[in-house]
Amino acid sequence: MKITDLNSAQDIGANCMLVEIGGFHFLIDAGMHPKKEGSASLPRLNALPPLDYVILTHCHLDHLGALPIVLRKQPRVEVLCSPASAIVARRILRNSVSVMTRQREETGIKEYPLFTYGELDAVEAALRPLPPLVPRTLRAQNGAELDITFFPAGHVAGAVGCLLEHKHRKVFFTGDVLFHAQETVTAAQFPEGPLDTLVTETTHGSTPPRDDITRASETARLLETINSTVSNGGSVLIPAFAFGRMQEVLTILDKARRRNALVKCPILCSGLGVDLADYLDLMTRKTNMVNFHRHVLQDLKVRSLERRYVPPGQDLPEKGIYVLSSGMLVENTPAWRIAANLIEHARNSICFVGYCDPDTPGGRLLSRKRGDTFLFHGLDYAARIRANIENFYFSGHASRDDLVEFARRCDPRSIVLTHGDPPAREWFEEEFAVELPSAKLTNPEPGKEYLV
Ligand SMILES: [Zn+2]
Ligand SMILES: [Zn+2]
Repeated sequence: MKITDLNSAQDIGANCMLVEIGGFHFLIDAGMHPKKEGSASLPRLNALPPLDYVILTHCHLDHLGALPIVLRKQPRVEVLCSPASAIVARRILRNSVSVMTRQREETGIKEYPLFTYGELDAVEAALRPLPPLVPRTLRAQNGAELDITFFPAGHVAGAVGCLLEHKHRKVFFTGDVLFHAQETVTAAQFPEGPLDTLVTETTHGSTPPRDDITRASETARLLETINSTVSNGGSVLIPAFAFGRMQEVLTILDKARRRNALVKCPILCSGLGVDLADYLDLMTRKTNMVNFHRHVLQDLKVRSLERRYVPPGQDLPEKGIYVLSSGMLVENTPAWRIAANLIEHARNSICFVGYCDPDTPGGRLLSRKRGDTFLFHGLDYAARIRANIENFYFSGHASRDDLVEFARRCDPRSIVLTHGDPPAREWFEEEFAVELPSAKLTNPEPGKEYLV
């Protein structure tokens, strides 16, 4: 089997891997780099051979965001994904067009949007949902045959890992994976080895696992923070990704309210998260990988945030719980704007529930202390941090130990590293050299072809 990593750097970026096996050409994911702009955010798609299939592991933009461009180049290629991903892919891409259109106005990047609403029809038409755990035989133009099976990967609603089998050769791609269940997504259910080749994500390679922290203990600590903040007359901002994490937070709040463990107060959400709640509800009814019910919004009397903001620095007139995107407090998002109201008032709390890149406003805020200054660039507002800033650990990615344990069970002859920053990949290189010394290890350089 040959692989070429088409992401332009060894990082968590524009995930896209060209795979050649048994006469087939696959593209595993076609993502957009979250930290790059314009066409620099795309994978290297210029020299693609004619593809037989694109495999979409899940609908985060770092895996999905460049799919319309691939289909523009090769309109007849079919996109294999889980039935749950097929429900939400177009909606996520539609939001991406809106964001890029707004960025064109704000930053003058002329290339934006990189694709149009009109091109999303082609995406919808190309999707071929495959139910997980059911093998399917694929046939290439030249008559070659190969079996493909999706396996639930946890991580986010609809995520799958992918097994390719060709003439007794087994290759498995983890995609992004979490081996433990989340509030709204079931745990990964991966194949038991042996494998020939394992292509593994490495996100948490440089994060030592904390045994003292569990999802249950973090949920309890989040509820305590919310209850004490609101009881003391403050508001709580929970910056959350609109797809997945926001619905998980709402489900946590709903369960707490049912057992009388949540303070009474209004709950407000940003529009995309409310909209995506319908999609997760549909995924729940049509598949068995997701567990979110739309009635949670009615039961909690969730309202959409109206974007009529009071001036920065002025506390919110309506005390409550604000569950808003973006999860990393990216500039000009509802979460960023509401943070500008809460941050200078000691009775408020800002509760992060997902990973914040150090280069984002969320990452910068987490590195500051109470009393430090925090600048809201676009608002020309330098705030003194007085609110309570907390970070809760609700990752959607497996710990590095869980990934090594999975690899050990599969006993692969060859391992390929992907989806991690250089220090994370280094940790896995060292660990696998000890744990699986006979496995051939590849940490692919961008654009270079490897036999694995
Ligand atoms: Zn992901
Ligand atoms: Zn990812």
